[in-house]
Amino acid sequence: MKYYNIKDKQEVVDFKTATIKGQGKEKGLFYPEYIPSFDKEFIENLNNFSNEEIAFQCMKDFVGDEIPDEILKEIVSETINFDIPLKKINEKVYSLELFHGPTLAFKDVGARFMSRCLSYFLKDENKKVTVLVATSGDTGGAVANGFYNTENTNIVILYPKNRVSKVQEQQLTALDENISALEVNGNFDDCQQLVKQAFADDEINSQLFLTSANSINVARWLPQQIYYLLALKQWQELEKENPVICVPSGNFGNICAGILTYFRGLPADHFVAACNENDSIPNYLNTEKLEIKETVATLSNAMDVGNPSNFVRVLELFGNQFEELKSKIFAYSINDEKTLQTIQNVYKKFNYLLEPHGAVAYAALEKYLTENPDKKGFILETAHPVKFPDAVEKATNIKIELPESLKELMKKDKKSTEIGPDFEELKRFLLNKN
Ligand SMILES: *Cc1c(COP(=O)(O)O)cnc(C)c1O
Repeated sequence: MKYYNIKDKQEVVDFKTATIKGQGKEKGLFYPEYIPSFDKEFIENLNNFSNEEIAFQCMKDFVGDEIPDEILKEIVSETINFDIPLKKINEKVYSLELFHGPTLAFKDVGARFMSRCLSYFLKDENKKVTVLVATSGDTGGAVANGFYNTENTNIVILYPKNRVSKVQEQQLTALDENISALEVNGNFDDCQQLVKQAFADDEINSQLFLTSANSINVARWLPQQIYYLLALKQWQELEKENPVICVPSGNFGNICAGILTYFRGLPADHFVAACNENDSIPNYLNTEKLEIKETVATLSNAMDVGNPSNFVRVLELFGNQFEELKSKIFAYSINDEKTLQTIQNVYKKFNYLLEPHGAVAYAALEKYLTENPDKKGFILETAHPVKFPDAVEKATNIKIELPESLKELMKKDKKSTEIGPDFEELKRFLLNKN
């Protein structure tokens, strides 16, 4: 498979280059040259295949022969070696639980796949890369865990001091080995700014090979398609009609992977993009004008994105045809008050515990199903409630037990280096590390 840069279609690269570089010229996103269809026999009979076979079939066309089948099989089975159950909340709504991975959030799948592909490609290049990531909380943990002890990689994570939860901080700082955590005396925007400066700095780039691990990288974006296949495999056993699929969305990487599976032949009735108060996309669908707004802080903080970078890929999938896009996607914005109410109501009525991201999805899907009463669907529950204990406790008075895997992690020593929001300090750190 070849990938072109959406901003400059002349720039065409293979999967390996797209994975190593992350993005193209002018920060353009890479996009597959064609959309490979699923085999009809395969998509209608998912239950005849193991999860590993499904994941392999899903990814094979995008990787081509750049990774041998045997190794790709190993990579995908390590990527999804935890449960992804579809649980019934009530007669109309199911929840696809994507939080049973090592860092209890759905980003584990993309981070694990990307780290293993990158490591494979670097082996024959004899090259060491430094993966530089700024995180507001969730991404950092998934990347740290996904790349932990991966050969030929050094991971440097910048996070804002005192602004991530205790669980999130331990996930970033307790691993050591090839993972370094920089605790920045500033906010998330400072962290992001420092990372951008590093990517633009000649001296750093002459000594280190820098890459990023956010969802614009095709190796992090594409494996998210696997969720939708594993959901459908379970759905086919439970319901006859095609599902409405509701995705809590921030950067729109996850939902875009879902829509991609639809264009490959996955039978989905409709997609619902659930947003918090960062509502550029719901507004776009109402007005056809894409207005980028300042980011607002909300309870579902992993979706606090004013300018969703993957939305250009959604537009590309629909050939930039607004009416077609609008006929398949419903987008809706949910505020914090409604988010808390939803956590409370769903717990009281159905004894199912949502966290804020899943609650935004539930509320948006409920809105769509009220307007379309004959349909049924599922939400993607993207994080474990224990990662957002304050909101969950506020809504339900429940104190959530830490899972066993986290109890161990919480006992480990925190190892981080504190820096100011000062580029020279970051630069010194990176160059000394080399
Ligand atoms: C990152 C994240 C999202 C948003 O996913 P996008 O692909 O950026 O739209 C939703 N929920 C959780 C818990 C996340 O960590």
